[in-house]
Amino acid sequence: MFARLWQSAMIALARSPRVTHFMQTARITAGLRDRFVASGDATDAVARAQALFRDQGLRSSLFYLGEYVDQPALVDENVAAKQAVIQALRGTGLDVHVSVDMTQVGHLLDPALAARHLDTIAETLRDGAADAPPDGLHVLMLDMEDPSVVDATIALHDGLADRGLPVALTLQAYLKRTEADLDAQIRRGGAVRLVKGAFVGTPAIAYTRRADIKANSRRLIDRMFSAEARAAGFYPIVATHDARLTAYTRERARAGGWPPGSYEFEMLLGVREPLARALVAEGERVRLYVPFGRDWWPYSVRRIGENPANAWLLTRSLVG
Ligand SMILES: Cc1cc2nc3c(=O)[nH]c(=O)nc-3n(C[C@H](O)[C@H](O)[C@H](O)COP(=O)(O)OP(=O)(O)OC[C@H]3O[C@@H](n4cnc5c(N)ncnc54)[C@H](O)[C@@H]3O)c2cc1C
Repeated sequence: MFARLWQSAMIALARSPRVTHFMQTARITAGLRDRFVASGDATDAVARAQALFRDQGLRSSLFYLGEYVDQPALVDENVAAKQAVIQALRGTGLDVHVSVDMTQVGHLLDPALAARHLDTIAETLRDGAADAPPDGLHVLMLDMEDPSVVDATIALHDGLADRGLPVALTLQAYLKRTEADLDAQIRRGGAVRLVKGAFVGTPAIAYTRRADIKANSRRLIDRMFSAEARAAGFYPIVATHDARLTAYTRERARAGGWPPGSYEFEMLLGVREPLARALVAEGERVRLYVPFGRDWWPYSVRRIGENPANAWLLTRSLVG
């Protein structure tokens, strides 16, 4: 009950333009920002990714902040930032791995425009990864947003993949349709990042109880590590901070003969990093989702809302 109230309060803060303006311009909030996002531009984000890899063996997926954008100028800014970060990753020896939301690149304005932008970004990524280390995962990862864009996101992903462009797809365990969507991706031999889902759906289309979402996550992980998936060249990515699910994943991987590196874990920058480091120490491949850019407050306050124990982060940043 308290956790839900806390999360609703943080979502309200994320949506308030006045609070956002104050937080993003006040100097006292820098500590809070630096916990969940890499501050600055593409060059700063790549520097943070280099430090994570050098010091902790953690790989990164870079994400320029700004979602559900409905102004052409902001769409152009998002596309330019994705291109810039791909160029900045070039030649660093890091994975050329960038995440993108469909609504960042114009889907709300014109789905065809978003498709063209994704095409261009994926081509830039393909070229940027030409001399990148062969053992890395160099992809444009399509994040998954609310249920209204799932069909369109999958169709765009499949179109890009069919043209040989380096793309991967996020699927959400809270949606009942995901089992079928995952099976289709396994047959294609694609790469899927499985998450629980940051949205709420009606019971007709979604699991609404945490226990049911978790149980579905397990069923989907079973499929991701099946013999069929291995034979198809599928690449499983399990994105969670849930230590029981990471343990379950490792058990399934071992049972199915998947060596570390033939799959990976992914977590968010600033969330349960000791778990990420422990997995790396045990030989697993772990990636962090590293957001960067000006609009850091809505993203960060949603992360704070995901765990009431994060209240101290907010308090500390405001009292200095
Ligand atoms: C790399 C990555 C990419 C993602 N991409 C998408 C996407 O494209 N679409 C989408 O809908 N969702 C996405 N998500 C979010 C995801 O759907 C979940 O909402 C989120 O990860 C929480 O679920 P969980 O499995 O990590 O753990 P939970 O079951 O929520 O929590 C497990 C443990 O981690 C702790 N924890 C979780 N979050 C926090 C936090 N912020 N601070 C401190 N502790 C925390 C919990 O308290 C608990 O102890 C992504 C998540 C990750 C890690």
